[in-house]
Amino acid sequence: DPRIKGIKSKIRVVPDFPKPGIMFQDITTLLLAPNVFKDTIDLFVERYKNKNISVVAGIEARGFIFGPPIALAIGAKFVPLRKPRKLPGEVMSEEYILEYGSDCLEMHIGAVEQGERALVVDDLIATGGTLCAAMKLLERAGAEVVECACLIELPDLKGRERLNGKPLYVLVESH
Ligand code: IMP
Repeated sequence: DPRIKGIKSKIRVVPDFPKPGIMFQDITTLLLAPNVFKDTIDLFVERYKNKNISVVAGIEARGFIFGPPIALAIGAKFVPLRKPRKLPGEVMSEEYILEYGSDCLEMHIGAVEQGERALVVDDLIATGGTLCAAMKLLERAGAEVVECACLIELPDLKGRERLNGKPLYVLVESH
């Protein structure tokens, strides 16, 4: 798709952020180009519009930028998956292991019902731990995860292999 090239060109790579050795993929530069931001959303909407998806689950924080416009366009609800102690209601939690230590995602109980068809959205997959935790939350609520969608994949980290065969759709790869 010719739009992919434009999207790739608007992702800024920042060396040594947030710490030495990390090449940070920054999507805020893409948001400054409204036509490219629109192309990004359109590509996801074209893929998911006729797939009977009832819930788009966005991962804090950048899944909150891309998830809601997709949800609105395909007529699905939006559910935020948040870092600990941010959601005010009763939550279910899923902990996951990071390189150093662990992190956790939470979802409001009752936000997703048994039998719903879910799409998980984030900006980037690295090791896959975050998407894996997100899928567990949705499946614990009785939803079927149809697919995970990210703008960027770091294929060298093999995160795709951690998704237990669940399909992952990405727009660009970065090495
Ligand atoms: P994973 O759990 O190792 O797959 O890491 C993915 C999570 O870390 C996502 O929520 C990303 O937003 C975040 N992340 C990791 N590296 C980057 C990066 O280079 N740019 C933006 N987000 C990143």
